[in-house]
Amino acid sequence: INGCFAVYGREKGEAEGVILVLQDVTEQKELEEMRKEFVANVSHELRTPLTTVKSYTETLLEGALEEKELAVSFLQVINHEADRMTSLVQDLLELSRLDNKQVKFNMKLINLVQLVAESVEQHQIHALKKRQRMTFHSSIEKFFVTIDPNRIHQVLSNVLSNAIKYSPEEASIDVNISQEEECTRVSVADTGIGIPQKDLTRIFERFYRVDKARSREMGGTGLGLAIAKEIMEHHKGKIWAQSEPGKGTTIILEFCK
Ligand code: ADP
Repeated sequence: INGCFAVYGREKGEAEGVILVLQDVTEQKELEEMRKEFVANVSHELRTPLTTVKSYTETLLEGALEEKELAVSFLQVINHEADRMTSLVQDLLELSRLDNKQVKFNMKLINLVQLVAESVEQHQIHALKKRQRMTFHSSIEKFFVTIDPNRIHQVLSNVLSNAIKYSPEEASIDVNISQEEECTRVSVADTGIGIPQKDLTRIFERFYRVDKARSREMGGTGLGLAIAKEIMEHHKGKIWAQSEPGKGTTIILEFCK
């Protein structure tokens, strides 16, 4: 807390009172800290692939270019790192647009059950590549809600691909829709690695990952759930996680009328 003093008097030198101004700057300080941490994270995330690109390029220029097979594998690494940087920059731009309210939400009255069914269908193909079984079940046929279908599809895509990514081969992923009075919940339950209790709320923070190395290796930017949370908040909806480490994770999206 900052203190500020003011002394005043009717005649010169005559102090009549003291005004003490107290201003709570905790929030300001926290915001400043978050901003600094964010810049540090972005720099780190970009520096890592750039270092790789630089060292592989140098090795190629120093002679590896002569060995065709080696050169091709080096170029594949460079290409992969460039893709990672592109995803990162795209996600950063998306977050910045959401922060600055530059994203135009195209709100429409949509049957959420159908939208979820379509998203699941699109991801079943990816799950199959890991021989995982992705099922969909809804206790209701229709739930009409005003949403931006593309944005909600984006949220579902992130949650469904995470379920695939963080679950082993042959795991099962169950997508379920249930009705709770005025609200509808979409849950995505996987049988993957799970998330420790202490990280359950933090995974929605920008760049927060339970296992940094593992997430990067899998091509994650660490921004997907932060974007999903922003989008859900714009819809006055909620997103949260439940998990048992080693057993699996359930991500729940709630939409209310
Ligand atoms: P990333 O690009 O790293 O996947 P996200 O923002 O989508 O970033 O998720 C943040 C972190 O939350 C991930 O790095 C991972 O540690 C954890 N996480 C998200 N979904 C799951 C899941 N279904 N199972 C286990 N961990 C998960």
